[in-house]
Amino acid sequence: MRVIVSECLRGTACRYDGRAKPSAAVQELCEKVDVVGVCPETAAGLPSPRPPAEQRAGRVWLRDGRDVTSDFERGAAISLAKARASAAPLAVLKAKSPSCGVGLIYDGTYTATLTEGEGVFARLLEEEEICVVTEDMVEKCKPSVEHPVAIVLGSGLGRLASLVKPVRRIDYHSIDDFPREARPVAGHRFEATVGTIDGVPVVVYPGRVHLYQGYGAPEVTSLVRHAHELGCRDIIFSCATGYISGNAHKGLGILTDQINFTGRNPLAEWDEINDVDSPFVDMTDAYTPYLRTLARGVADDLGIAVEEGIFAGMLGPSFETRAEAAMLRTLGVSYVGMSVANEVIMARALGMNVLGLTLATNESGESSVTHEAVLAEAASYADDFERLVRGILHLL
Ligand code: SF4
Repeated sequence: MRVIVSECLRGTACRYDGRAKPSAAVQELCEKVDVVGVCPETAAGLPSPRPPAEQRAGRVWLRDGRDVTSDFERGAAISLAKARASAAPLAVLKAKSPSCGVGLIYDGTYTATLTEGEGVFARLLEEEEICVVTEDMVEKCKPSVEHPVAIVLGSGLGRLASLVKPVRRIDYHSIDDFPREARPVAGHRFEATVGTIDGVPVVVYPGRVHLYQGYGAPEVTSLVRHAHELGCRDIIFSCATGYISGNAHKGLGILTDQINFTGRNPLAEWDEINDVDSPFVDMTDAYTPYLRTLARGVADDLGIAVEEGIFAGMLGPSFETRAEAAMLRTLGVSYVGMSVANEVIMARALGMNVLGLTLATNESGESSVTHEAVLAEAASYADDFERLVRGILHLL
């Protein structure tokens, strides 16, 4: 996988103060990917050290008041050409910089005040639809013993749990809000494993309860809150789904967004809703773009066929009618299932980074399918699913 990276984050002394600003997490990522190093300001021929610059009113100014917008635009254009030639899908850029900043940049007053905005180079990359993040995202997603990766496994995908080198096991029935009387359906087990996969700290939840079983949204999202309490910042949801013909095919998929058709929202039924910053949770990037891009890159590197698409969460347990499948096709939905949607809302409310992986086993609205058939189909993709998840864990 190719990744565009700000040179100063790699350790190159190219900043205005003549120094580097290395990030250990980014440097570790660089050891595992093909790096396309960029420094737009150096590309423009600016020396290091040089006077500091900040953006104000859409232009770039040196501290002494000189307008250097054209220099910064020239360097950004040169770096963009390099990025285009590489075809890298992901860029990790230095936060807050007038060239590389993403979302927040210094406001031009030289008082360390931040304002919403993009660096000159970052804006060009975003226009190319390259996933652009700062070192903060890489650091926040990096797993550790204190921050293991939570993995919730769907129907037929439980084999991944056998990869865990266990440290301890947790009976679901000891988890707050998990229904005491719940028993797993075929293909599920109700015991979480804390441990490692290939040395990466994880907590694996091999199975879940569903709204269609009569449980409430707080109950079906109890595993998410448990993972958060254990320190997990990244959570991978996997599920078996139907696919919407015309928008997706049978096989593995990466969820890009969701429509919650369950008629439920876990935040509306959650006793501790007042403990989060705000119940009005931002769902614009429900599935973390950085994690989605890594997953896509891993799949491409390993030659694993995956598609990407929007997920529709239904209450169930009946499958979709033909009319419902046609409606979902019109809405741009690729995958449809009976889990995940409420879990993703809870994870986002808790500030977790979300990756959604699906195994589409049957065509929605067209073929009757049994739970046994779903399990059999899932088994045939188990190797690819495992390779994909291991590859993602390796890059985090
Ligand atoms: S232009 Fe970007 S890569 Fe170069 S020093 Fe500034 S933040 Fe770092």
